[in-house]
Amino acid sequence: MSAYRGRFAPSPTGPLHFGSLVGALASWLDARAHRGAWLVRIEDLDGPRTVPGAADDILRTLAHFGMAPDEPPVWQSRRDAHYAAALAQLTAGGLVYPCGCTRKEIADSLRAAHERHTTLAYPGTCRDGLHGKRARTWRLRVPDGNAAIVTFDDRWQRTQTQNLATDVGDFVLKRADGQWAYQLAVVVDDADAGITHVVRGADLLDSTARQIYLQRCLGAPTPAYLHVPVVVDTHGEKLSKQTGATALERDDPLPALRAAAAHLGLAVEGDAPGIARDAFLLAATAAWARRFGPGTG
Ligand code: GLU
Repeated sequence: MSAYRGRFAPSPTGPLHFGSLVGALASWLDARAHRGAWLVRIEDLDGPRTVPGAADDILRTLAHFGMAPDEPPVWQSRRDAHYAAALAQLTAGGLVYPCGCTRKEIADSLRAAHERHTTLAYPGTCRDGLHGKRARTWRLRVPDGNAAIVTFDDRWQRTQTQNLATDVGDFVLKRADGQWAYQLAVVVDDADAGITHVVRGADLLDSTARQIYLQRCLGAPTPAYLHVPVVVDTHGEKLSKQTGATALERDDPLPALRAAAAHLGLAVEGDAPGIARDAFLLAATAAWARRFGPGTG
């Protein structure tokens, strides 16, 4: 296997909160347990959702928590040409087509399909042409039949299977607002950065089959995946800036690090009041390595 390269890929929509700290810590611990490199990618493609200054704030918080990236961070907003090249490659291969459907048109046809108890996926309306409509989005054609089934072994969640044709349908690579879709950007960025291991929240588990399929279309390697349980609030919703998660206390990282390690189910040996941050992180790395380190398969 090539040398371990992992990453944490926050969307800079606000300060780092406890939910994102869990993802950051898990990816950092996995990289350290494998004596690999840990990179940070700022996922600032979604212009309207990006909060000015949030990325720098996240990087500063990570540093206070003892997690500094091993290479300069990558910013998605500066990688337009790479996404365009990938789309061109897929288009040349006949795998992409323009779609003129509005969200409402898709919702209406999905509702009709739902009433017939058939697929909930994009119904492929524009597969054979725009039907006189204007191109709004660009979609990747997914295969039919057994070729649509993607199976992978998640290091935490075990075997995962998704049928892209019936669960998702032809999915968007370039959005109606001109933005690159998350699925395309993440695959291109992970491939360009030589990422061998993806460790992130389980809310992205159902994006993974799409990403693996895209990797195959682009001739990119598939990394190993590990999806950690997401942190939920008292209503069972994923903790996020939207659900009112509070920013982390930068000057006192240990309580949050301890809580994040506990969320990950780690028994950190030697943890005691007054333990230094880096001693805690070292002990947490050992605990992670016992569960997910090299040789634990
Ligand atoms: N930027 C995504 C998020 O914050 C994570 C993407 C990924 O790790 O693949 O949810």
